[in-house]
Amino acid sequence: MSSYPILKLNLKKIRRNTKKIIQKCKEKNIQVAAVTKVFAGDIKVVKNIINSGVNILADSKLLNLKKFANFEIPKMLIRIPMQSELNELVKYTDMSLVSEIETVLDINRYANWENKVYEIILMIDVGDLREGIYYENIEEIEDFVSKVIKLNNIKLKGLGVNFSCFGGVRPSEEKFKTLINIKKYLEKKFNIQLDVLSGGSSGTLSLFDKIKIPDEVNQLRCGASIALGIGLDDMPFGYLYQDTCEFISPLVEIKEKHFNGIKRKIGICISEVPKLSKVDLIPSNKDLTVLDIDDNYIYLDITKSNRKNFLGDEIIFHLSYAGLLFSMTADNIKKIYIN
Ligand SMILES: *Cc1c(COP(=O)(O)O)cnc(C)c1O
Repeated sequence: MSSYPILKLNLKKIRRNTKKIIQKCKEKNIQVAAVTKVFAGDIKVVKNIINSGVNILADSKLLNLKKFANFEIPKMLIRIPMQSELNELVKYTDMSLVSEIETVLDINRYANWENKVYEIILMIDVGDLREGIYYENIEEIEDFVSKVIKLNNIKLKGLGVNFSCFGGVRPSEEKFKTLINIKKYLEKKFNIQLDVLSGGSSGTLSLFDKIKIPDEVNQLRCGASIALGIGLDDMPFGYLYQDTCEFISPLVEIKEKHFNGIKRKIGICISEVPKLSKVDLIPSNKDLTVLDIDDNYIYLDITKSNRKNFLGDEIIFHLSYAGLLFSMTADNIKKIYIN
C-alpha cells in the first residue's frame, strides 16, 4: 500500500461528539443506539464510540456487527434481516428492526436453539415508504403483535420509525403522535408493555429545540451526528465537531490551463476512492475549489490560493457522509488514528 491518500480519523473528536449526543439525549430520557455503518466495521473507531457510553451498538450490516462480537454491548441490526442470515443474526446480535411476521417466526426458532430471547422492534412506516408496516394498516399491525406475543424466544421491545427516506416525511409532533397512539392501542388491546419507542435518527436530534419530542420517544439511532456532527438535511450541529475526519492527498500536478475560457491554475491530487462526487470532499483551505473527482483524480482550482503550492503538498479535505463511507470502504486508503 502506498502512503497516500490518508484518511485521518480523530478519535478524540468522535468520542466528544458521542458524549455530547448522549448528554443531550439523556436530558430527554432518550437512550442512544450508536449507528456505526459509516465506519464500515472499523474496530478502533467503534471501540471509542462504545467507550463513550452508548447503550446499544447499531449497524445496517450483519458483517460489521460480527466484527464487533468481542465488544460486550447489546447489538442491533437496523435493517430488516434476510431469511438467509437469521442463524447468524441470532448468534451475533441481540435485537433487530423487523416488519415481517414470517421472519420473526424463523428468528424465534433460531433463538430457541440458541437458548436466547431475541428482541425485536417492529417498524411502523408513517408514510416515509421505508421499511415497516404502514401505519394505517392497523389490522396487519395487530395480527403481527398477536402472533409475536405467543413466541417464547422473542421479546417485542417496542416500535420504531424512520424519517427522511424517499417518502420525504420529516420528524414531527404529528407523526410521533401517530406512533404513540398505535403503541397505546397495542398495549391496551394485548395487555403488554412496549418499552421502546425508537424515534428516528440524527435527523430527530436536529429538531430537539424546534419541536416537542414526546416523552414516550426514548431511543434514537444516531450515526451521522456521531461521525460528522450533522443531522437533518446534513445540517451541522453547533455543539458537535464536523471535522472529525480528514482526507489527505498530495498534489501530483500543478498547471496553468484554460478552464471555461479563463486561465486558471489547476492542481490534481490522487483520489483512489471509487464513487466519490465533487461535493464529497471539501478542501479545508477555503481558497481551493473542487472542480471534479473521478476514481483516479481530484481536480482543484488553486488559482485563488495565496499560498504557493508545490508538487507533493498535502491537500486536506473534510468529508461528506458519502465521502466518509466511500473512503472507509476503499482499498487503497491509509487510515491514521488520532487519539
Ligand atoms: C443509518 C440509519 C440510522 C442513522 O441515521 P443517521 O442519519 O446517520 O443518524 C438510523 N436508522 C436506520 C434504520 C438507519 O439505516
